[in-house]
Formats: sequence, structure tokens, C-alpha cells
Amino acid sequence: MGRHILFKCPRLGTNVQHWLPATPPENEPNSNAYVSVVCLACTRLHFIHKESGKLLGEE
Ligand SMILES: [Zn+2]
Repeated sequence: MGRHILFKCPRLGTNVQHWLPATPPENEPNSNAYVSVVCLACTRLHFIHKESGKLLGEE
């Protein structure tokens, strides 16, 4: 089981949907809530918060 998150590509400004595989809660410490995803819009790597879909460094 996985789920989709939606984030905004910082390069193109378009919303991108990305599928995240589910991981056990014990493997998700809060200090490591960001995952690297390959952006479908610009094909680059972005760091996205698993829960909120926000970009790393974005408020
Ligand atoms: Zn992008």
C-alpha cells in the first residue's frame, strides 16, 4: 500500500503528483520526514515532506 502526495515543482511551478510507498511507522522518525523524489515535471530531484508534501526549506 502506498499513497499519493501532491507538491509544487519549484522550477516549473506546476503541481506534481507523486506516489509514495508505505513504510512502517517505526521507520519514519520525525527527523527524517523528507524523501527525495524524481519530479515528473522537470525530471530533477526534489526533497518533499512525506506528510505535508512541502518542499524542503519551504515554510
Ligand atoms: Zn520539478
